[in-house]
Amino acid sequence: MKIVACICFLSVTLTAEATDDLTVPPLFFTNQGYRVVSTEILKPTELEKKEFGLVQKSVTRIRSIAQVPLKDTHGKPDWYYRFTIIVEKYAAPDQAKKRLPLIDTPPHGNPHAEPDKAFPLRKGFQHGDKVYIIATDVAMYYFDGPLDKIKKAIEEQVAKETQAAGDKAQVHKVAVLYSEKFLLHDTGKGHPENSDRLKDVVAHLKGDKDLSAVLVWPEFKQATIECLETVHSADYLKLVEKEIKAIGKQGIAGLSTGDTVISPGTWEASTLAAGAGIVGCEEVMSGRASSAFALIRPPGHHASRERGMGFCVFNNAAVAARYLQKHKGIKRVLIADFDAHHGNGTQDIFYEDDSVFFFSIHQHPFYPGTGRPAETGKGKGLGFTLNVDLPAGSGDDAALAAFRDTLKPAMEKFKPEFILVSAGFDGHEGDPLGGLKYTDDGYASIAKELLGIANRYASGRIVFLLEGGYGPQNITGSVNSIITVLKNAQLPVTSN
Ligand SMILES: [Zn+2]
Repeated sequence: MKIVACICFLSVTLTAEATDDLTVPPLFFTNQGYRVVSTEILKPTELEKKEFGLVQKSVTRIRSIAQVPLKDTHGKPDWYYRFTIIVEKYAAPDQAKKRLPLIDTPPHGNPHAEPDKAFPLRKGFQHGDKVYIIATDVAMYYFDGPLDKIKKAIEEQVAKETQAAGDKAQVHKVAVLYSEKFLLHDTGKGHPENSDRLKDVVAHLKGDKDLSAVLVWPEFKQATIECLETVHSADYLKLVEKEIKAIGKQGIAGLSTGDTVISPGTWEASTLAAGAGIVGCEEVMSGRASSAFALIRPPGHHASRERGMGFCVFNNAAVAARYLQKHKGIKRVLIADFDAHHGNGTQDIFYEDDSVFFFSIHQHPFYPGTGRPAETGKGKGLGFTLNVDLPAGSGDDAALAAFRDTLKPAMEKFKPEFILVSAGFDGHEGDPLGGLKYTDDGYASIAKELLGIANRYASGRIVFLLEGGYGPQNITGSVNSIITVLKNAQLPVTSN
C-alpha cells in the first residue's frame, strides 16, 4: 500500500497564545496504543531573527495523531489507517510581543478558516500584509496505509523533524525548583528535617559542570489559597496561618494537628514549596524542560486534607496533581512515593478517586503505620491505591521488584498522563531515621523504571518532589543519581 505523505508548511504562521501558556493537550492514543511525540528546541530562521528579534527558544512538537474512522477510508480493508501529525514550532512570544501590538488572528493564519475547538482564535500580530500567530510553523503530515508501514513512515518523519530541530541535547533540560526561602522554615536545633538537607544538594548541582549544563532554575511563586484549597480545607489553611502568626517574629512551635514544627518563615516556605511543584509541572507541560525536580521543604506526603503531620504542612504532590487536572487538561496522574514512610496524607486525599493513582513503597512497621497492601482504595477509587510494604533491611532488589512487578502492570491498565514522584531519601542505607538499605544506584534504577512508564504512557512527563531523607549527603548522592538519569533520558519518540 502506498504511503501518502502530504506536507504543508504554512509560511511563518505563528501559533499558540501570546501568553506564556504554550500547553499542548495530552496526546491522542489510538486503540493500538501507538503514539508519537517529539519536543525539540529549534534555531530560529534568518527571517525570524531579522524581523522579530527571535534569538532563541522555539519548540517543535508532534501535537496530535488522529485515527480516521474506517468509514472515511473508502472501502479499504480494516487494517487501513490514517494518522495526522501536526507539528508546531513555537517562537518566543515575549520577544515577538515586544515588537508589534497583539491582535486576534484566525486559525493557522488562514483568513477564511472559522475558529473551532481544535484551532481557536489565537493571539498574534500583523506585519506588512501578513498575519503572524505567535510561534513559527505548523506542519501537517498525513499517512495512509497499513499500520506497519504507517509506523515506519511516522518514525522516519519524526527522525527528520528531530534532525531539523538541530542540537538534540538542548531538549534535555531538567528544571530544578529551589528557593533560599525554603531555608526560612526553621525546625529548631537538632531536628532531622532542617535546612542543611537542601543546602548541600543545591551546592553540588550548581558546582557540577556536567549536570549544570542541562539544569534550568525557573522562578516560581507561592501557591495561591485557591490552589491549596483544591487539596486542603479552608479551615485547615486558616488554622495553619493563625498558628504561624501566633508565634510572632521569632521562635518555633508545634503545629496543633500533628508532629510538625512551625516557625515565622513556615507559611512562605510551605506555600512556596507547593508553588514549586506547580511550576515544575508547567515547565514540563510547556516543553521548556523535559523533566523537573522540586528541591523543596517542608515535605508534603503526610499532610492530608485537614491535617499536617510528620514534618509536612501542605501536600505538595497532591496540589500539583490537582493543578494538572484543573488547568492542564491532564486526566490521569500517577503519584509514586518511594519515601521510607508511607505517604498516608496523599493516600487519604485520593482514596476515593479514580483519576489519581497512588503507589507507595515503604518500610513496615514504621511511622505512620498505614500503607498495608490491603489498603487499595474505596468506592470509585477502589483499585487506584497500591501499597507495597517492606521489612527493615530491604534493599534495592526488593524496591526494584515492586516497581517492575507491581507498579508497572498496574500502569498498563491506568495509563497515567503525568507522573509525580514523592521522592524521599530516608530509605537510603545511610539515613539516620529509616531502616531500609537503598543505594544511590538503586534510586537511579527506580528513576529509570518510572521514566520508562512516563515514556510509555505520559509522553515522558515526570516531576520529582523532595519528601523526606535526613542525611544531607545521601540526599545529594541520590538526587545526583536521579538527575543524571533524567539528563541522559531519551525522548519518547515512538512506542508500541
Ligand atoms: Zn519519610
